[in-house]
Formats: sequence, C-alpha cells, structure tokens
Amino acid sequence: MVECPKCGYDVKEPIKTWPLAPRGRKPIIIGQFKCPRCGTSFKRAVKK
Ligand SMILES: [Zn+2]
Repeated sequence: MVECPKCGYDVKEPIKTWPLAPRGRKPIIIGQFKCPRCGTSFKRAVKK
C-alpha cells in the first residue's frame, strides 16, 4: 500500500509492476499506481 503524493490517499494495488535491476545492485520492483480519488499517476518502488 502506498500513499498518493498529491492527496495522501492509500492506493492498495498497482496498475502494473515491473522489475528494475540496476547493474551491480539488488533488483527492485517498480509499480505504476493510479489514485482512485484524485486520478494522479505515480511510480513507486514496491516492497516485497
Ligand atoms: Zn490522490
């Protein structure tokens, strides 16, 4: 669950996720979120 950067709403599920693996670093999962309240789209690292 992540917080919308604009209105602070808790967005539960990402629209989509994809792995991001910088060279020599631990891969992380990036999630594309859309706030159902204000409609803002934003990306966040998703903790697994
Ligand atoms: Zn919002």
